[in-house]
Amino acid sequence: MREKLRKFLYNHLLRLPFTSDNEKYLYLISIIACIYVASMQFFLLLFHLVIRVSPLFFLYLCGFLINIFLVWLIKKRRYSLFGILLSLVVITLTLASVICVGANNLVIVYLLVTLIMQIIIPYASVRIRVSMIVALWCSAFALVAFNRYMEPIWDIGEANTILSLFNIHLAFIGIIIQLTVGNIIWDVIRRFNQKKLEESQYEANTDPLTGLFNRRYANTIFKRLSTGQLGQVWCVAMLDIDEFKLFNDINGHQVGDDVLMLVSDFIKTNLHKRDFLFRWGGEEFLILLKDVDVATAFRILDKLRNKIMSENFEIKNKTIKVTVTIGVYPLDIHNIEESIDMSDRLMYDGKTSGKNVVIM
Ligand code: GH3
Ligand code: MG
Ligand code: MG
Repeated sequence: MREKLRKFLYNHLLRLPFTSDNEKYLYLISIIACIYVASMQFFLLLFHLVIRVSPLFFLYLCGFLINIFLVWLIKKRRYSLFGILLSLVVITLTLASVICVGANNLVIVYLLVTLIMQIIIPYASVRIRVSMIVALWCSAFALVAFNRYMEPIWDIGEANTILSLFNIHLAFIGIIIQLTVGNIIWDVIRRFNQKKLEESQYEANTDPLTGLFNRRYANTIFKRLSTGQLGQVWCVAMLDIDEFKLFNDINGHQVGDDVLMLVSDFIKTNLHKRDFLFRWGGEEFLILLKDVDVATAFRILDKLRNKIMSENFEIKNKTIKVTVTIGVYPLDIHNIEESIDMSDRLMYDGKTSGKNVVIM
């Protein structure tokens, strides 16, 4: 039940245009209050239909229909009007109920539920809500006076006991809803915001084409590296796809994009989880290898280069061969930029010496 409510609220949140969390909360709790009051009125209109007290049946039917209008008011963000009308509807129906069938059925509990609404739901200014509390107070006195000095128009006999049970249960549920749902709504809003934040951080840190981390995220990692948070021993490598311009010219930019995606995935799956891979530029990738000296890094990367060379990349029923040139250098965590420059220079040395090599 709780999870279903969370899902319902979450789906609603997705569609809300508001930026303020307070308004999201107010909107959702108002909708829930409306749903509660509508279901209460629905029960009561059926009840009075069965016991044939037609004026109350019609009044509860009107109350039920007014609820539809109240939902519309909430959607239009007219919260004050919504709250005032909702309170007045409850007061009117309660007093009408006392005049028609008496107060032995504990109909007064609805005034208490509405009183709690004034305290919990910030639908209007404190002044308006205090006025509503005073109105509820006066209605409670009027209810006692009606009960003392007037005979109810209908004597519904035993049905009073059933109605008392209805009223008590509906009021209990109303109070519980108001006291618990507010917290659930805040919890859902918190989770929603957290998820949005994670999504936007993910989008900001990844390259849309390959899904790899981008340069922006690389800078975050460099900061953590330079403070020693990620360990001391690293090697840095610059990897560049060979003759990619020519490839694009022959096969088209779209096929070039597909190759970039496949090569990115291929490199990623061939590295350790503890290593980092960034898309550094067009067809250039920066690799950080953890806990290896430069000789070991060279062996790892040469194996990778060989694997890429031997791989048949399949794109639109065509087999594509790719080679890469890599420069690798020990990473000085206190001079990260220089180390990257060195790996870049070594990669260019590889280009001038014939490509498809690893240089250390
Ligand atoms: P070299 O072997 O010396 O690296 O030659 P190259 O052609 O790979 O290098 P160059 O720097 O001359 O050209 C890089 C090409 O990469 C140019 C550009 O068309 C292509 N490229 C860069 N980014 C993208 C991209 O996102 N998609 C596609 N399809 N091509 C890209
Ligand atoms: Mg290139
Ligand atoms: Mg390049």
